[in-house]
Amino acid sequence: GGGGTVAAIDLGASSGRVMLGHVGTNELRLRPVARFANNPVRTIDGLHWNVLELYRGALEGLRVAVREEPDLASIAVDSWAVDYALLRGERMLGNPVHYRDERTAAGVAATHHLVSPAELYRENGLQFLPFNTLYQFAADRLGGDLGHADTMLLIPDLITFWLTGERVAERTNASTTGLLAAGGEWNDALIARLGLPRTLFPRLVDPGTRVGPLLARVATEIGAHHALSVTSVGSHDTASAVVAVPMTTESAYISSGTWSLVGVELAAPVLSEASRAANFTNEGGVDGRVRYLRNVMGLWLLSESLRTWQLAGTVFDLPTLLAEASRLTGPVVVFDVDDPRFLPPGDMPERIRQWCRDRDVTPPDSPVALVRTIVESLAAAYARTLRAAGELSGAHIRRVHIVGGGSQNELLCQLTANQTGLPVLAGPVEATAIGNVLVQARAQGLVTGDLEALRALVARAYPPRRYEPEP
Ligand code: ADP
Repeated sequence: GGGGTVAAIDLGASSGRVMLGHVGTNELRLRPVARFANNPVRTIDGLHWNVLELYRGALEGLRVAVREEPDLASIAVDSWAVDYALLRGERMLGNPVHYRDERTAAGVAATHHLVSPAELYRENGLQFLPFNTLYQFAADRLGGDLGHADTMLLIPDLITFWLTGERVAERTNASTTGLLAAGGEWNDALIARLGLPRTLFPRLVDPGTRVGPLLARVATEIGAHHALSVTSVGSHDTASAVVAVPMTTESAYISSGTWSLVGVELAAPVLSEASRAANFTNEGGVDGRVRYLRNVMGLWLLSESLRTWQLAGTVFDLPTLLAEASRLTGPVVVFDVDDPRFLPPGDMPERIRQWCRDRDVTPPDSPVALVRTIVESLAAAYARTLRAAGELSGAHIRRVHIVGGGSQNELLCQLTANQTGLPVLAGPVEATAIGNVLVQARAQGLVTGDLEALRALVARAYPPRRYEPEP
């Protein structure tokens, strides 16, 4: 039936896009209207997101979207998690710091001095990552703008604020701050113990809430009618991606992009000591579901290697490199992709070779061999993490869905099937934007039902490609 159209602004860690999504009872079609690079900038005081450039790209995309679809029903924003802007009134204090910036080490020590890691896990159920928002706040308290700020907005909430003038904290992304209590409200006691002003934290909203109409000035700038709404969705990109995993029961998922998020969907968190020791996270999902997963270093290893080679003067085409890597025969070195040495930007091939030398292993001797090593090592990490997810949560896993840019990587999909011994179902590539679109569309009444109904729609519109495990 009729249906309607919404626009998704999806800011990935390596690129942003604006997509139009047409949704009806039995219809789901997305088309990109704008893509732009997301290149961080290092200045004398550290590594920053170029958030103004991202906002400019988003506005430009919205202008095209409105021109193509004058009856646009709504707009929503998602992005990577944990990072934020500090504001005083309407003014942003400095440029948001990138989670790969090294400043957080001091914040981790200062935070754990106040609250032990074990106690933190019981409070927030989050995987330890040195860049979780609460550690960044501690670093800001030591030397940043926190003392001058009256509001903090996570990145998608910042874009929403610029579009609407409304200050909110969308709940799935807020769960990655480490400052939400089990009930999903701001953890006032923890916030006080960490010495943070409670007034920094705006009103929480669930995905699917109408946040407000566009500011008149913004509506004029993009050529939209003034009643066009901004809706909240699973604004943590992984939360939106999980909405669009075309999975049924007994399925695990891997959201494979710059990061790989590897896990299962649960009704309730797992807060056991074993789960903490295995560094699994319980993040807030859409419709109150729990995203029980672990961050695995991801295709960053590959993209940062390509960037390193490019800086040295050789531009490789990724699909060609992957095709050559899949034809290699013979033993392949497997390294620990989660070693923290791989986190910061810089010469990735050299760090991988050094990891090998540290263990008296012969390092890969060519770009193709290095690519093979990265993909094998990622697949090994996927298999190990999925086994742990099943053991720790009691979930019975019989198939693995891979979504995001990495679902186009045939070698990665096949090796994951081989190493898990399970069928892999690959796609959709743009799961995050699809999840964003579906949650907006449901809020607008263009489609109804629970996540299972939305996933059935995704499975029909984007049938996944199946990889069987090889002996
Ligand atoms: P993010 O949302 O984190 O920015 P994406 O989901 O867009 O990431 O995934 C980006 C990754 O997808 C790239 O780093 C690359 O490894 C992979 N990718 C993109 N295009 C292809 C392709 N044609 N073949 C294989 N892999 C691809």
